[in-house]
Amino acid sequence: MPAAEAALHDVYTEVLQRNPGESEFHQAVHEVLDSLAPVVRKHPEYLDAAVFSRICEPERQIIFRVPWIDDAGAVRLNRGFRVQFNSALGPYKGGLRFHPSVNLGIVKFLGFEQIFKNSLTGMPIGGGKGGSDFDPKGKSDREVMRFCQSLMTELNRHIGAEVDVPAGDIGVGTREIGYLFGQYKRLANRYESGALTGKGLTWGGSQVRTEATGYGTVYFAQEMLRARGESFDGKRVVVSGSGNVAIYAIEKVHEFGGTVVACSDSSGYVVDEAGIDLDLLKEVKEVRRERIDAYTEHRGRLVADGSIWEVPCDIALPSATQNELQEADAIALVRSGCRYVAEGANMPTTPDAVRVLTDAGVAFGPGKAANAGGVATSALEMQQNASRDSWSFEYTEDRLAGIMREIHDSCATTADEFGSPGNYVVGANIAGFLRVADAMVALGV
Ligand code: GLU
Repeated sequence: MPAAEAALHDVYTEVLQRNPGESEFHQAVHEVLDSLAPVVRKHPEYLDAAVFSRICEPERQIIFRVPWIDDAGAVRLNRGFRVQFNSALGPYKGGLRFHPSVNLGIVKFLGFEQIFKNSLTGMPIGGGKGGSDFDPKGKSDREVMRFCQSLMTELNRHIGAEVDVPAGDIGVGTREIGYLFGQYKRLANRYESGALTGKGLTWGGSQVRTEATGYGTVYFAQEMLRARGESFDGKRVVVSGSGNVAIYAIEKVHEFGGTVVACSDSSGYVVDEAGIDLDLLKEVKEVRRERIDAYTEHRGRLVADGSIWEVPCDIALPSATQNELQEADAIALVRSGCRYVAEGANMPTTPDAVRVLTDAGVAFGPGKAANAGGVATSALEMQQNASRDSWSFEYTEDRLAGIMREIHDSCATTADEFGSPGNYVVGANIAGFLRVADAMVALGV
């Protein structure tokens, strides 16, 4: 094994030993290190400063008890997490996820991804992530509020506008951020808007933050199409998921002239050849908070089992959750003629599936680049909070579109420069890594 590869292999072995059983974290680390051999060759000083192993170890990991009282008066218990992964570029920044699958390994994988994603935005934000194994499904509004207040009762001492700035992720939207921010404000006795992002528009939030991850993914995909002389116009698109990312990805695809013919939730997927009706989807998922089969009471058809990736499409935007697009799905996509995949979710495509897609010449945009629009707009929210300003929707969306274009171009040129033209995975990993590594060396050990 050549020296650079051997050095990175040692780093990976160390990560496996230090973090037993955390398979998603191992997967995320492997995917990044796998791209970095050319960086080791070009920058031996990073190896001397142990940047590769230091970047894989969170600066701080917080695990805490979250007791709360349900509507029946019973005491319930969940576990809260915040992993403050890397602060070389700025305060830790990243969402909170509320989902029964959340554990330390999941939070570490997400926090690790966030380092490189946040770096790619070009903005002054470090990487972090948090959440809880709390399941918001079936909980009343008051239960969600009490849970958020309890979580923040511990989390408040670890965050702040210059320290660590949480936002939403799966299971955490404007409602939850409101309850979290309310409790933070109560405990801190000050209106520190910049301590959380994803806030509502009347209490310090930014225009476009709700739409930003989905819109940004489509802006990124549009650049991938443009690089091959194509556009969304007339294209068939499949978007998995039906949460915040998927909904606004669908909206932007339709604005750009494509047709989204399928979307999903954990209960199955919906096929609607005429194009997903966004008002109906929002009513079902956001207002009524129901399962997606409620959509098919009005139009389209439900497929309760099977894979959404069997629906033929030109462009796939996996926007549900990690490892949802597997090898067999990638084979099905390639067979049906799909030529573009851009990840709206974090690490939705397994490594085997990525290999199938890239071997077949499918353009593949990894999440840390393609879905960076959410956190980039969070950074715009922080800017507005710091200057006590609020920008128009048009101006904010322009900024988002510009950032996504720059991320695309920086991934493309970095891939070229480091010998893997057209490979957005290599481009994103290297471009994201270089900015953080440079800062880490500058700041000393
Ligand atoms: N959870 C989002 C992500 O995965 C956004 C994080 C943020 O805005 O801080 O990037």
